[in-house]
Amino acid sequence: MFAFDNSYTRLPERFYTKMAPAPVADPGWVALNEGLARELGLDPDALRDAVDVFAGNRVPEGAKPLAQLYAGHQFGGWSPQLGDGRAILLGEHLGPQGRVDVQLKGSGPTPYSRMGDGRAALGPVIREYVVSEAMHALGVPTTRALAAVTTGETVLRQEGPLPGGVLTRIAASHIRVGTFQVFAARDDVEGLRLLLDHAIARHAPGADGPMGLLRHVMDAQAKLVAQWMGLGFVHGVMNTDNMTISGETIDYGPCAFMETYHPDIVFSSIDQFGRYAWSKQPDIALWNLAQLATALLPLMGDREAAVADATEVLEGFRDLYAKAWTKVMAAKIGMNDMNLAMELLDIMREGGGDFTNTFRALTVDPDVARDQVTCRERFDDWLARWQARSPDNGAMARANPAIIPRNHRVEQAIAAAYEGDLAPFHALNAVLADPWSETEANRPYRVPATDAERVTQTFCGT
Ligand code: AMP
Ligand code: MG
Repeated sequence: MFAFDNSYTRLPERFYTKMAPAPVADPGWVALNEGLARELGLDPDALRDAVDVFAGNRVPEGAKPLAQLYAGHQFGGWSPQLGDGRAILLGEHLGPQGRVDVQLKGSGPTPYSRMGDGRAALGPVIREYVVSEAMHALGVPTTRALAAVTTGETVLRQEGPLPGGVLTRIAASHIRVGTFQVFAARDDVEGLRLLLDHAIARHAPGADGPMGLLRHVMDAQAKLVAQWMGLGFVHGVMNTDNMTISGETIDYGPCAFMETYHPDIVFSSIDQFGRYAWSKQPDIALWNLAQLATALLPLMGDREAAVADATEVLEGFRDLYAKAWTKVMAAKIGMNDMNLAMELLDIMREGGGDFTNTFRALTVDPDVARDQVTCRERFDDWLARWQARSPDNGAMARANPAIIPRNHRVEQAIAAAYEGDLAPFHALNAVLADPWSETEANRPYRVPATDAERVTQTFCGT
């Protein structure tokens, strides 16, 4: 079924625990991503017949399942040991576009589960499926969702007993900043070196040593976070264990796309202090990259010189990010003028504009864009100056989506799924597959939440 070649298993045993997923009572299909299956060189019909594999009830040929070890800073606090507490890496599939991890999430307890049950409720599985696939359609590097299944079991969560689910996640790899941190914290320099070589081979071929990898990850993360920012995306848990070395978005827990623009917006119910607010994300990315640099220090030779070099490299992040952000905003307003772009954001803040719809309206019909904000005079003044500069409409059309996965829509799909109705989930996926045009089908999905529908908090995928 898969063409497995499991390079992670060739790393020392202390990197992981070899173990199979725990079987579930009664596997049932939620979704198979046939388009992704084809991209991976897999036969959708064969996958369709293998619901037991996606539930963790059968280990497919060639797989060498394991749970990965990592650590991380969670909300700034150090957790010396995390790891795949509810996930199993089945193996690495070699597809037409290269090597990818195939991971089951919600696959049962592991030695890294701590107090958790190793399972996932169906809701978070659906959220990750919808949002990660939407991110991909929006052109943002991300892990993908190949399959989602129900387990026929219930899991106990804050809300009460909920149907369980398992997501099959595809990723360039699951190596995180926290994977480097765990070996650094244990003074395991050999482990660090092996991980460095492995990560360079997979994600940054040609990169020159630890500093080369650091530069590569900085560049990828600067571009990634700039893309998030340009879509109003708030990740919600930018812990170092949720930041990949590949530069893919990972871990769609309490994430959300903002509707009414506000730079300090936070969704996560556990982010009391706004650490991971929309506007803070570039700073947090840098903070996480500094943790990566710190973890890599033992590989950089003379410590004092290494600290000086690493600091200098990290200081380059602001420039990298500014370049990436300028590029994103230049496309969004169709001209390279950050002052004009920032002025628009400020008008949206004052005038309560829907982030997605204001930019889209500017793209398709600037005259209705003013209806998005309440401070019309200020907006009209801006609009006149902007229009006089002949914005590049083509660039704007490729940068300003008509639809994003609005939180209330995701929550509706989850609520319906809990009632046994998957139609809203499938409908949502279908419209999000093409976010770049206004269609009759996506019209209802372009409307912001009403006061009654609005979701102001999202919860962790645990
Ligand atoms: P997250 O906040 O989702 O990135 O997860 C942080 C850590 O908690 C990771 O080590 C997860 O494997 C672990 N974890 C989260 N949910 C569960 C669960 N239901 N069972 C066991 N471990 C979990
Ligand atoms: Mg995580």
